[in-house]
Amino acid sequence: MDKNNLRDDLTILKDMYPEMEVNEFPEESPLTSTISGCVPVRINLATDVTINFQDKKSINLSRLTSDLISFKINPLKYPQLEAGIQLNIESQWMTEDDKSLLLKSIVDEFNEITNPNNEELFDEFFPTLMLVLSFISEDSSTILFPQNRRVCKDEEEFKIFDNIRISLEDYDMKHSNYNCSICMDTKKGDKMVKIPCQNESHYLCRPCSESYFTNMINNGDVLNIRCPDCKFEEINLDNFRNYKDMIKQLFTPLIDVKFLRTILNEDLCKKFEELYHSQAATKLSKHCFNSCVICKRCERWCVKEDLDDSMIHCNYCDFTFCFDCLHSWHGYHNKCGKKFTIPREVVEEYTDLKDDLDNIEKKLELEVKYGKKILEIEVNEYLADKLLDLAIEEEGSNLQRCPTCRLVVQRSEGCNKMKCSMCDSMFCFICGYLLYKDDPYAHFREPRSECYGRLFEGMEGVDD
Ligand SMILES: [Zn+2]
Ligand SMILES: [Zn+2]
Ligand SMILES: [Zn+2]
Ligand SMILES: [Zn+2]
Ligand SMILES: [Zn+2]
Ligand SMILES: [Zn+2]
Repeated sequence: MDKNNLRDDLTILKDMYPEMEVNEFPEESPLTSTISGCVPVRINLATDVTINFQDKKSINLSRLTSDLISFKINPLKYPQLEAGIQLNIESQWMTEDDKSLLLKSIVDEFNEITNPNNEELFDEFFPTLMLVLSFISEDSSTILFPQNRRVCKDEEEFKIFDNIRISLEDYDMKHSNYNCSICMDTKKGDKMVKIPCQNESHYLCRPCSESYFTNMINNGDVLNIRCPDCKFEEINLDNFRNYKDMIKQLFTPLIDVKFLRTILNEDLCKKFEELYHSQAATKLSKHCFNSCVICKRCERWCVKEDLDDSMIHCNYCDFTFCFDCLHSWHGYHNKCGKKFTIPREVVEEYTDLKDDLDNIEKKLELEVKYGKKILEIEVNEYLADKLLDLAIEEEGSNLQRCPTCRLVVQRSEGCNKMKCSMCDSMFCFICGYLLYKDDPYAHFREPRSECYGRLFEGMEGVDD
């Protein structure tokens, strides 16, 4: 018979840790050669621990993954710790420092009590291996996580803990039951998908989530794609006071396409992205009239990042062009063929609001819709225009507007048949009437015309 209880200890341990592996040992004859084996042991955390990396990242862990404790035992020395047992730790997360600290703590805890020279304490039936393993699982969390914290030395270390968190969450999910809010069935987590919504606890079964999202995409209902369990409010563009915030929110789907890729095929996901972009842009274009335009090269919507900038870039085909005239970009200072215009009423409203401090809200609302710089330019032009109108109406004024392009043309000399230097229209200086291209003088020749016979009226040296 053995002098000590190693054989009994191993038998009990095999019951306690069914995953324990240990090399064969003879059933009858005394144990003399080295016994080696290994056993997975999980360090139990007394309470949640916080894992930090600098000030940037922090997670809480309530559990850890198992570590593998391997041992080599000299049966002739067992239950002595120092002379009888050699321990080694394999761990997903322990650093070399952690391992040495833990091994040292084990020595501190058990060396004295298992030392045969210590006659008062020594007990040859002391179950050292069993107590070491339970020390590792129950007492080491306070040693390795003082104050229930771990400040990681580098991002790599933090990542290891974060991956543990993810894999444990994944494990928990697979082993829990969930109710699908569409078919109402209760299913195990591996048959479910977690919806990436703010609530963080909404689940659908795989078949339901697949058909739910597929139908919404195929019906073109993409702006409304969301968690079916969450309260839904359609985005209201009137609520925004900042253009950049508005487009950021509008163009960020409630359900990330990365998630959709985990349940739907690539064609559907592409379709979703395209539809989402074009529907969001359509919605935006109705709210902000100079915010987006269809690229004439690839026919996709391009959205301005800055409302005041007339240069626009198509992210799909890489075309940089002018928002106002749609031609490839001609620089800020070159003449642009077509200028975007803001409705007259809006310019008038903005002009009235300009110095009104009580109406900042309303002013901001217009700026978000049309762009501040553009509004200011329009207001200045509008005010200058008003001054011109006054000048035109003044007695003896020699100014008149072109009826086609509204350019103010000055009559310095010559007759009342005017020609616009901008658009080449011909018009009557007296009444502003547009003249026939083929026969501009008809207006002055027709007896029924109000300007009959007045072609030279007002010219110096000609009597009225
Ligand atoms: Zn279902
Ligand atoms: Zn939800
Ligand atoms: Zn394009
Ligand atoms: Zn242009
Ligand atoms: Zn003109
Ligand atoms: Zn006339």
